[in-house]
Amino acid sequence: MSKKLDFQIVCPDCEKQYQATVWRTLWGDGCNADNFTSRLTDNTNMVTCPHCGHSFRSPLALMYVDVKAGFAVWYEPQPDPNIENETQQYAAMFGADSYYAKAPRVKDWEEFKHTIRKYYTGELKANPVNIKFNFDALKPASQKKKSGCMGVLLLLLIPVITLLII
Ligand SMILES: [Zn+2]
Repeated sequence: MSKKLDFQIVCPDCEKQYQATVWRTLWGDGCNADNFTSRLTDNTNMVTCPHCGHSFRSPLALMYVDVKAGFAVWYEPQPDPNIENETQQYAAMFGADSYYAKAPRVKDWEEFKHTIRKYYTGELKANPVNIKFNFDALKPASQKKKSGCMGVLLLLLIPVITLLII
């Protein structure tokens, strides 16, 4: 599912701090090459300083995922070490060849949208089938008989926690 993230940001214009909420993960299920920009708009992850009104796009990474179409793409305007951690977790859960683990990382916003469009048009090959979901990879051996729900929760929380620390 789509996921939001709260973070403290320093305005590059007036240098005052404020809290903003941005998308960390945006699900595009049901979209296609023609209409996905109604969900991922040019306003997505734009933040506005309450002190001076300066508006700009959040520098935090954003993952666009379409589970039905079978692809994921990172928007990564500045290097984000958390993506390495998340990629390893995705590889453990879904397999190293899954689209989650192999999601391209794109620095430029226009190129990000262009890459998503290429998956929808088939110019880039999506991989919608055979996701191997491996809950056990997340758990210590002693807990392998328990439900996997906590594992999913941990996966979702870890990126948020690590991002809040930096
Ligand atoms: Zn400002």
